[in-house]
Amino acid sequence: MDTVDSFITSSLMEYESEDAGRHFSFGSSFNPCPRQVMYGSVGNGAKAKLTFYKRYRKSIIGVIRKVVQRTWARQGLLWGDWRCADLKCGVTYQNSRLEGGICIRCGSPAQYSEKIFDDPGFRGRCDAIVFHPGMDGYLIFKLKSRNTNVILRVEEPYPSDVCHASACATLLAREKWLRVIGRVVLWVGTPKPVPYKHWYYPGIGDEVYEDFLQRVQEVSGKMARGEEIKGFCYTAEDVPYNCPYGKNCFGEDFV
Ligand SMILES: [Zn+2]
Repeated sequence: MDTVDSFITSSLMEYESEDAGRHFSFGSSFNPCPRQVMYGSVGNGAKAKLTFYKRYRKSIIGVIRKVVQRTWARQGLLWGDWRCADLKCGVTYQNSRLEGGICIRCGSPAQYSEKIFDDPGFRGRCDAIVFHPGMDGYLIFKLKSRNTNVILRVEEPYPSDVCHASACATLLAREKWLRVIGRVVLWVGTPKPVPYKHWYYPGIGDEVYEDFLQRVQEVSGKMARGEEIKGFCYTAEDVPYNCPYGKNCFGEDFV
């Protein structure tokens, strides 16, 4: 959609800031693939599979997410929870946008805390909740870093990306009464942020989220009956970098 595309370009890619930036890293715990749901619910040794390579990739997307958030925060577009970075001040703000991303009391930069959901079917963080002035509402972003070749080649985002954004959007609309106008899956390039690619989905996507909840129930039922759980990936190549279960599904084929 052109409106969203020009918004991302102007607010993110072309926005200039003097801010030196602060970097923090977080992981993501959303498990949409049936096998991930299965492994997640039986707690199958994910920690042992976290190699240096995976840690490296996870840290990079964590840093990129913080840079993106900081950029929107400086423009006053980012919505959510904040804590003043000045320890002596330490004021917190809930469910709000801060002009310039600055603490109202002391003028220090405020640190953005991603919204965390702990719903029966969805545990995870919302990458960015961004006000779109032209559309007078909020866009819920799922951010991913991808290398340039993947961005140029791939036509559709991973279903898990859309599920994630839809779950966040639905819960924000239901619990916070936020005026959510759409969901965006945004892939930014590495090592450079361009090219980027995004997919825009109008609305909160509650049907996508309800489908996901149903899948969690199905997986639980199948596990209880001892049936096979099929995953999203057909080959080891399909395994997304942020899935900790590649080796569980593909054994030694997975590097
Ligand atoms: Zn302050």
